[in-house]
Amino acid sequence: MTNDIIIIGGGHNGLACAAYLAKAGKRVTVLEAAEQLGGAAITREFAPGYQVSAGAHLLYMLDKNVRKELALESNGLAFSQSNMKTVALAEDGDHLVIANNSAQGAGITDADQVALQEYQRFMTRFASIIGRLHNRIPPRIATKNSSDLLTLAKTALDIRMLGRDDMREFLRIAGINIYDILQENFDHPLLKGALSMDGILGTNLGPRSNNSVFTTLHRLSGLQGINMPRGGLGAVSEALATVARKHGATIRTSAVVTRICMQGDRVTGVELQDGEEISASAVVSSADPRTTFMGLLGARNLEAGFVRRINNIRMRGTAAKLHLALDGLPAFKGLEAGLLGERILIAPDIEYVERAFNQVKYGQHSVHPVAEITLPSLHDDSLAPNGKHVLSAIIQYAPYDLKNGWASQKAAFTEQVIDLLEQYAPGIRQQIIHQEMLTPVDIEREFRISGGHWHHGELAIDQFLMLRPAPHSAQYLSPVDGLYLCGAGSHPGGGVMGSAGRNAASAILKATQKDERS
Ligand SMILES: Cc1cc2nc3c(=O)[nH]c(=O)nc-3n(C[C@H](O)[C@H](O)[C@H](O)COP(=O)(O)OP(=O)(O)OC[C@H]3O[C@@H](n4cnc5c(N)ncnc54)[C@H](O)[C@@H]3O)c2cc1C
Repeated sequence: MTNDIIIIGGGHNGLACAAYLAKAGKRVTVLEAAEQLGGAAITREFAPGYQVSAGAHLLYMLDKNVRKELALESNGLAFSQSNMKTVALAEDGDHLVIANNSAQGAGITDADQVALQEYQRFMTRFASIIGRLHNRIPPRIATKNSSDLLTLAKTALDIRMLGRDDMREFLRIAGINIYDILQENFDHPLLKGALSMDGILGTNLGPRSNNSVFTTLHRLSGLQGINMPRGGLGAVSEALATVARKHGATIRTSAVVTRICMQGDRVTGVELQDGEEISASAVVSSADPRTTFMGLLGARNLEAGFVRRINNIRMRGTAAKLHLALDGLPAFKGLEAGLLGERILIAPDIEYVERAFNQVKYGQHSVHPVAEITLPSLHDDSLAPNGKHVLSAIIQYAPYDLKNGWASQKAAFTEQVIDLLEQYAPGIRQQIIHQEMLTPVDIEREFRISGGHWHHGELAIDQFLMLRPAPHSAQYLSPVDGLYLCGAGSHPGGGVMGSAGRNAASAILKATQKDERS
């Protein structure tokens, strides 16, 4: 029996897409290369008895529609922590704690408090314009299609509705960088350092880079509070898989797709590593666009201009991931125990963050990196043996294409990062039972993401909406009949959102209905 639809990749977007398509009555088979589902939203063992969210470690952008329509909470998703605070660590132990629109500690002034509220007001307002696009199939620009025209008109209207002053400000800041905006608004170094992290995490940008306002707004546009799923980020993928299976989807793991098969101009199915061929009337790929088009379909099946565009997508990851199995809880200087379970940042000021980025330009990793640290086992005893703990940290910057390669430099970089942690949490080195560092090269290998890039391609104005991943493939379609995209490389990008999977399902249902009618 021919499958209606094959989905390549059982990351959270592939699974969300499968759940929606199966719910709509399609016969769906998901083929995941790894032994375990989840892609970069996975919980796995990294030392005997210690589990960690090996890619994404905080959930803050999960699409409200996906959560509700697929009833994820009724299908296993629960939280060990919700609405986490952000702690900006100071080396002297006088830390700044940011919660919602206010900050406490480290001698924060009233002027900075007021500025923070105003910053959150205008940034949230601007971000909502981007947020309203998340659930829409990106419009084509040169179009007469009424729904595309309506989306374009609605976006223009959203900007106009900001009112004269905010509209001017929106247009002004869209083209500058987050460094300038934070310098204009704040004095406190820890506050500026912490806020700049929202624009640079997962990107190949420093605070002074173009697009860092856009990336800050993108993160804010989907923000649902900072949360920690019980059982790690893999719990999101597991809940999505449960829903997909309930609606009849077949999910296979250890199923490596090596080729997307074609007959004439149309996709007919896929071939697996062991030679098995599976036919389908449509193939949907949640693998990144370079893997999908260059690796699985092949340049010979595509026009030269499109091949050039795909090859030009900027997708060099700079985020590394450190996992530590600890003998006990680390003691951060001056940090009260109640704050240990929050989101902890090492980004003591914005100049430090920019300096950490500087080395990337020359193919080097940061000498003094920035870090986003969590201790997920503090509120979730499923992750570590009794009395032991797990530390999970995103470390930047660790460029994918490090000069002289990672093989000879990973061990020294790991030591450097542990030295950095030791400065803030003296004694932590002695508590380490096991350590694992994933560089972007490891991330590429483990999650099959080209360049090890968090978003399957840099998030930037020229790689967003109708330009993501490239023209002629931006509506979850592709230049080849029967081939669709549903991963983070498509609109609205990466982060554990599920929006790309959801939007893709609706684009595919529309397209397949049209095919069936003709
Ligand atoms: C280090 C790191 C930290 C991050 N931290 C956060 C965070 O804290 N919060 C957050 O929201 N986001 C975070 N992200 C981003 C987020 O994890 C990703 O954007 C998101 O998980 C992408 O989901 P996806 O389903 O689109 O793709 P993926 O998760 O990449 O899934 C694609 C799947 O396709 C499979 N695949 C690829 N090729 C084949 C093939 N040939 N055959 C079969 N299967 C194949 C892969 O194995 C993979 O399972 C982080 C990312 C990284 C790398």
